[in-house]
Amino acid sequence: MDLPIQIISTDFDGTLHADHETPPVPLRLQELIGDLQRRGAKWVINTGRDLTSLMEGLGRARLSIEPDWLVTVEREIYFREGSRYFPLQPWNGDCERAHRELFKAVEKDLPRLFQWVNGRFHASVYSDAYSPFCLIAGNNTDADDIEAHLIDYCESVPNLTVVRNDVYARFSHTAYSKGTALAEITRQLGLTREAVFAAGDHFNDLPMLLDEHACWLVAPANAITPVKEAVWREGGYVSDRHWGHGVADGLEAAMKEAGLL
Ligand SMILES: [Mg+2]
Repeated sequence: MDLPIQIISTDFDGTLHADHETPPVPLRLQELIGDLQRRGAKWVINTGRDLTSLMEGLGRARLSIEPDWLVTVEREIYFREGSRYFPLQPWNGDCERAHRELFKAVEKDLPRLFQWVNGRFHASVYSDAYSPFCLIAGNNTDADDIEAHLIDYCESVPNLTVVRNDVYARFSHTAYSKGTALAEITRQLGLTREAVFAAGDHFNDLPMLLDEHACWLVAPANAITPVKEAVWREGGYVSDRHWGHGVADGLEAAMKEAGLL
């Protein structure tokens, strides 16, 4: 019989990893993921961080296990061979081209968008390599208001969306998200959503916490309410424990249900 859980997709910050905890990724969670990897499952870290920032975070966390796949900036895919990660093509090239084209359409409106935010809020707005408009709001209430304005603006540009994580937000192409990247990895591995486990805590995780992408959905206690509601709605597991402890509870429950423990 095939292994019932073959892909474990975990968000990094606040889901797998908690900065203020020692160790930042609970040993129990490392053991459970390692156990599944030894049986042939693949572990995906599915994050909004870029590759450099994720590699730094992983280095500091001193894990006993290594991810097999990475999704960075909620859209780029890397696979591991030996100790190195390689970009998945044509996915990453297509993704880069789609964003370059999309962001051309946004360029003329950037001064107006920057001005709108700066005139109303204490917030940082800037462009980076991944988005011509990036936001760090002063607090989540401001981020809610700014996000609403950006979502209105997105109506005027086909395929444009806002990706939000806590007080951070940026523009992205609707075709590329943690969800579609996870679906591509599932396809690359010749699998279907029935064998996929996914865990996340914030807005940017919502596209992967869907029944269409994963059969086993988990949110830790620190997840924001919309994430918990999404996981409940799809029949998933919401833990009463925080961060990686909650994910370990959810993974253990899934493994028991699947007859693996
Ligand atoms: Mg997170």
